[in-house]
Amino acid sequence: MKAQAKFIKEVNSLLIKKFGVPFSNRNFPDPLDLLIATILSQNTNDNNSYKAFNNLKSHYKSWNELINEKRVKIEKIIRVAGLAEQKSSAIKSIVVYLNKKNGEVSLDYIKKFSDEEVINELTRHKGIGVKTASCVLLFALGRNVCPVDTHVHRTVNRLGIVKENTPGKSFSTLNRNFPEGAAHSFHTNLIRLGREICTPSKPNCTECPLNKICTYKKKNFEYKGRGKQRDFMLLDNVT
Ligand code: SF4
Repeated sequence: MKAQAKFIKEVNSLLIKKFGVPFSNRNFPDPLDLLIATILSQNTNDNNSYKAFNNLKSHYKSWNELINEKRVKIEKIIRVAGLAEQKSSAIKSIVVYLNKKNGEVSLDYIKKFSDEEVINELTRHKGIGVKTASCVLLFALGRNVCPVDTHVHRTVNRLGIVKENTPGKSFSTLNRNFPEGAAHSFHTNLIRLGREICTPSKPNCTECPLNKICTYKKKNFEYKGRGKQRDFMLLDNVT
């Protein structure tokens, strides 16, 4: 376990050397805003989910207005994010649940929960998985938790930090002993690495700052192009 934490620290510092310390919104956003933004971000890019989130925010003065709103209306407003039927249903259902449970549409009560309690509370809802719940932990509650999406899953396995076959298992193993204070920069820079350099089919290992410590057997030093810079991160821009 200590070896894993040391490896994560080394990766983190090499990524910071390459990409810098990522922008972080230290005025943590409202947890429900962040949850809704994360639901919108599932299976689409950050630009489209950002548009959908802004559409919702400009259409409604508060999430209370969604309690009695028709789901199909929400679906229309968020269409740009894709999977609008499922996403509108997940959003509507959490809003209705919160209103019924606490008499207010707010997730503030989870701020005093442990990480595990937050995950259990959020993942009981259809359309909210561990990745979405862990984004709320990291980006809205400032917890030292590293969410695992497809980019993080692919890169931590190629690097040899974990050896797991699903993002869910990678999440559990990776977060067992995560170095204090490293989750935000590690997560954000690793996504950038996965988008720009360690891409699924043709990783550009020549450009990779981790190529000396990576254990991936099929490293690719032939690729000569440069990945597109794609460093906009929706979840650090939710206000
Ligand atoms: S060396 Fe290659 S396979 Fe390993 S992390 Fe870097 S780009 Fe990915």
